[in-house]
Amino acid sequence: MPDPTEEIAAIVASRGEPERYSDDLPSAAPEPAATADEREHVSMPQPAAQDTPDGQTPTDFASLTTMQVGGKFAQLLVARTAFELAAHAAGLWESEDSWLLLGGGSNTIVADSGYPGSVLLVRNTGIAVVADDNLPENKVRVRVQAGQDWDELVAWSVAQGYAGIEMLSGIPGLAGAAPVQNIGAYGGELANTLHSVELYERDLAAVRRLPAAELRLAYRDSILKQGYEAVVLSIDLVLDASRDNSTAEGQPLSAPIIFPQLAKALGVKLGAQVPLREVRDTVLRVRAEKGMVLDPQDPNSVSAGSFFMNPIVSEQFARTLPPHAPRFPVDAEEASDTVTTFDAIRDGQLPPLPDYDSGERRVKLSAAWLIENAGIKKGFRLPGSKAAISDKHTLAITNRGGATAAEIGELARYVVSMVQAEFGVVLAPEPNIYGIEI
Ligand SMILES: Cc1cc2nc3c(=O)[nH]c(=O)nc-3n(C[C@H](O)[C@H](O)[C@H](O)COP(=O)(O)OP(=O)(O)OC[C@H]3O[C@@H](n4cnc5c(N)ncnc54)[C@H](O)[C@@H]3O)c2cc1C
Repeated sequence: MPDPTEEIAAIVASRGEPERYSDDLPSAAPEPAATADEREHVSMPQPAAQDTPDGQTPTDFASLTTMQVGGKFAQLLVARTAFELAAHAAGLWESEDSWLLLGGGSNTIVADSGYPGSVLLVRNTGIAVVADDNLPENKVRVRVQAGQDWDELVAWSVAQGYAGIEMLSGIPGLAGAAPVQNIGAYGGELANTLHSVELYERDLAAVRRLPAAELRLAYRDSILKQGYEAVVLSIDLVLDASRDNSTAEGQPLSAPIIFPQLAKALGVKLGAQVPLREVRDTVLRVRAEKGMVLDPQDPNSVSAGSFFMNPIVSEQFARTLPPHAPRFPVDAEEASDTVTTFDAIRDGQLPPLPDYDSGERRVKLSAAWLIENAGIKKGFRLPGSKAAISDKHTLAITNRGGATAAEIGELARYVVSMVQAEFGVVLAPEPNIYGIEI
């Protein structure tokens, strides 16, 4: 068997001329070829105190995830460069032991019994503008290391006057996980700006740049979420850097506001463009009102964000729901790319699931509406449980202090069963869940 760390060194060394980076921006230096010292370094497990949210050396998932539940792991590894990330992943795959990758832990929930394998923490940071002669002058290509905090990236882009991700302000977690579920909020999603990702792929045992289109990004979904074995080392975004697109005072404008709730909060019409900073500030305010930004002072933010995805069902099925149940059209491309099917047949009364290739239209339902109208209100908790529906948002399950993963799972199952009994729709969880049956 070849030594995986040497293999990686060869891969990194053979990448050829790095692309040019602008000098006056935070740097994400291109990876140099590995030295013998580095190869030694990457083969060793490393302590991680400085890499965790609270600065303590973590011993369990409760201290590594925003839901703050979950037992111990066998071993913790930390990657502080893209090279280390690829090398650790190669070594772990080579060992054939089980392992999982963890960014900010904001979309991961692990059982109280923990996880028998290793955890690899993604901690390579950096943002840089990358030269790209194929782009028009008003666009800029930005390379972001996988361990870069997502919201710091958004703050940076707004400060630079680059539009495209401002509506994704306040989403917790790291950039490398953003393509995994094609993060989205307030009418935007990563797919709108993602150019490509740099992956270390298990089958290839090599580093490869994959265009965004090949990730099959869909609503909270991608091939990475569906089990494609690859580690995101960095992501490239294309943002709008047009200086013509600004207010009379020279403030850069956002992408058009297409989400009604955000337009209302901004006091503008749908389609309007608003100074970038105003969009960011408003999104952060609205998110905070819903407990959707991480805030140590807000117990409603001890969660994994939205626990359930908005179900996508056939138009025919949606007609069986009460007329006032919110429903949103799903465009054909999104429908065909959505791998998971959420349709459930109510009491066997409806015909079999439609053939989506036949062009039947699909609609997205509101999971929050379904939950509330199944009788589960904000703040709901099962008797004696420390897990509760957020006081501010029906879609979030929260840990109200000392909850176990079992209690989180129990509440989630209760919500699923109530919605299924009332509406015949099976809600699917959004987070990545290990060792808990939902
Ligand atoms: C309060 C709150 C609000 C939220 N709001 C939103 C929202 O508005 N929209 C939204 O889309 N999400 C939202 N989320 C969910 C979450 O923030 C995002 O999914 C985020 O992208 C997860 O990033 P992470 O680094 O924390 O991922 P983690 O939980 O660490 O990992 C998530 C998954 O990605 C994998 N992964 C992590 N890094 C990599 C990598 N480098 N390469 C390959 N796979 C990787 C992990 O193995 C895991 O399967 C919210 C979460 C919380 C707690």
